[in-house]
Amino acid sequence: MENFTWWTEEHNQLQKEVREFAKQMAPREMETRWKREFAWDIFAKIGERGFLGAAIPKEYGGMGLGATGGCIVAEELHSISPGIGRIVVGNMIGGLRQIIEFGNEEQKQRFLPVAAKGELGAVVITEMTAGTDASGLTLQAKREGDSYVLNGKKRFIVAAGVAKRHFVYAKTSDNPEDIAKHRHITAFVVKKGTPGFNTEQLNEILAFENIQNGSFDFDNVIVPLADRIGEEGEGWKIMMEGLNFERTLIAAGTLGWQRTLLRYAVPYAQRRVQFGKPTIDIPANQTKIADVIMKLTVSRLAVYHTAYLWDLGKDITIESSTIKAFGAENTLQSALDVTQVMGGDGVNRFYPVQNIFEVAKVEHIAGGTVEACRLVIFRSGLKLLAEDMQMPRRVKSEELGVPIPTFAPVEKKLAVSEDAVLAVLAEDYRVNPGLHMMLIDIKQYIDANDEALVKAIEALEKQGLVMAYRTRKGIQMAKATYEGLKKAHPKEYYKWYPQWATEDRR
Ligand SMILES: Cc1cc2nc3c(=O)[nH]c(=O)nc-3n(C[C@H](O)[C@H](O)[C@H](O)COP(=O)(O)OP(=O)(O)OC[C@H]3O[C@@H](n4cnc5c(N)ncnc54)[C@H](O)[C@@H]3O)c2cc1C
Repeated sequence: MENFTWWTEEHNQLQKEVREFAKQMAPREMETRWKREFAWDIFAKIGERGFLGAAIPKEYGGMGLGATGGCIVAEELHSISPGIGRIVVGNMIGGLRQIIEFGNEEQKQRFLPVAAKGELGAVVITEMTAGTDASGLTLQAKREGDSYVLNGKKRFIVAAGVAKRHFVYAKTSDNPEDIAKHRHITAFVVKKGTPGFNTEQLNEILAFENIQNGSFDFDNVIVPLADRIGEEGEGWKIMMEGLNFERTLIAAGTLGWQRTLLRYAVPYAQRRVQFGKPTIDIPANQTKIADVIMKLTVSRLAVYHTAYLWDLGKDITIESSTIKAFGAENTLQSALDVTQVMGGDGVNRFYPVQNIFEVAKVEHIAGGTVEACRLVIFRSGLKLLAEDMQMPRRVKSEELGVPIPTFAPVEKKLAVSEDAVLAVLAEDYRVNPGLHMMLIDIKQYIDANDEALVKAIEALEKQGLVMAYRTRKGIQMAKATYEGLKKAHPKEYYKWYPQWATEDRR
């Protein structure tokens, strides 16, 4: 695949190196999957090469190549085979970003250089009763002098049992106001071997043949104040930042998987002869391959653009959740297509296509479900794209009699009165017959504050001329009733027919 014009020479070089390295590791990686081994040796080599430090600043022992560098490593390692990449993303997202952004200088010096050299990390959020609802976590952290004491359990953690460093989120306040404002969570680093901290169970996860996932038990685990990242109560903010970064890397990994699908499916179909010709010549197979290429092309652009935005210091909340959900869904759809192109061999474990098929489904859940991503996109989208989501004022064209948009403000606003409000609502009926008007819409036409406007609407409502929509905050929207429309204008005023509608058709 082509590099992007905005990559630096160092990014290009990194891509070349990781690509070459991944090819060298591919046989061993496959072996570890069949043997159900954890690939310590590969991981050590990745550490030696410094790839884990791609996104760590140079002053802390990393390469200083930002999110773009991290994504290059994630894509290239995933492109050879699902397992290697998973290990690295699990580590790179293992609390590094959070330490870079929120750790103090001493913590950065202590944690980052070892992480860059290959120390395996884990992100520890999920609990028995807190999955998508991560803010409902219950693992308790109680301050005692210069330490915190942690009690509770966590589950579904990638690298459980093998990670050395755990970025743990715990509850530090039961105060309802703190909880409402998401100030009840605090972040900590917990090292493997800390007394009371144990791996409780290892899971058997789809497609996770050579990596680990499991649960933890925290039984009076003492964590020094020095290992708290950020301030007490800052955990939610740190988690959200971390998830944006994690989702970007996961999405970059899915690019590698999509490339693997092509790497096997196309040569396979070029060599598989049926009905006297290679199956690549069958249009149904060509269409499927084209779909895979389309998805990969668009996803790749979106992933590296998101990484670029992050490197520029921009908010990537919408982009990172979008590319994560897209990556999982596109990879699964492409794996479905490619499996079909390869027929029986598509579901045969002797080809990696089957493995990608499985791991793509896992990626619908890990790192936040695709539904959770959509929740984030919806909520943030309404805020961040607010300007793009404003319907222009619509007025009746005098010439055509149909609604036309106008971005110009109303030249002369009306003074507030019941008649004025009813007139505005009746006029709106002519352009938006199915909609209520918000107070803010009405105020485009009437010079009034909310209080005066609500008073007029309530008076009209009492007379049956207006219907009001209320929330806990009171009246939010209004619409003229049938009686109201009649009172505002004669029936003729509302009529409109297209020119072709002759009298006998009205
Ligand atoms: C392979 C794997 C690796 C993982 N790695 C880690 C890790 O390293 N660290 C970690 O902390 N966690 C990890 N997780 C946990 C993962 O983040 C959670 O599984 C995920 O957030 C979903 O939580 P849940 O499984 O409890 O599902 P639930 O929250 O119970 O959700 C069940 C279903 O309901 C949907 N749903 C729930 N709430 C809503 C809503 N409000 N709107 C719409 N739909 C909703 C979900 O999308 C899902 O489809 C991993 C999970 C897996 C499977």
